[in-house]
Amino acid sequence: MAGHLFIISGSSGVGKGTLIKEFLKQAENVFLSVSSTTRKAREGEVHGQNYYFVSKEDFQKSIDNGDFLEWAEFSGNRYGTDKNRVCDMLNLGKNVLLEIEVQGAKQVKQKMPEAVLIFILPPSKEELERRLRGRGTETEEAIQKRLQVIEFEAKESEHYDYKVVNDTVEKAVGEIMDIYKKKTEE
Ligand code: 5GP
Repeated sequence: MAGHLFIISGSSGVGKGTLIKEFLKQAENVFLSVSSTTRKAREGEVHGQNYYFVSKEDFQKSIDNGDFLEWAEFSGNRYGTDKNRVCDMLNLGKNVLLEIEVQGAKQVKQKMPEAVLIFILPPSKEELERRLRGRGTETEEAIQKRLQVIEFEAKESEHYDYKVVNDTVEKAVGEIMDIYKKKTEE
């Protein structure tokens, strides 16, 4: 039996990383796909674990070879999902989770309409703004820019099958688990 494909997207600062980590602890038979990116590794990130960090040239070669299930440009860098790695897993009956942004999710949904798309929303725009300011690391201009991206992404979330509001980690992970169980036990 083929596995199911899940996609989780969400604006930056919404806490999707924490939710995914918790979800992967609780859910069985699901594997997180490791993407390729042209962005530089951040401190602590490991090649092959967080991402495959590749050169712009190699990324372009993969595009030309048709290796990607989807790819997109985000914040000046490119990110892509390897088609064969995902399809091999699905064919083995394993469920696969992609943590990708909205343009890529749209491409996957077009190719694989059965993919389950989940969008993580902040409790409210005000709360997200408070969290972004709370970090104290960004200028007002940078915050305004992020809020604009967030508004755009919230609009894009209309194409998603499910929206999960991250008001508490426990509740949000519970909702993701319910979606996962419903789909995999169908
Ligand atoms: P970051 O640079 O913060 O790790 O990721 C930036 C954005 O790229 C996030 O929204 C993340 O979900 C998205 N992303 C990561 N991998 C992929 C991918 O393979 N494809 C697409 N379309 N987006 C990705």
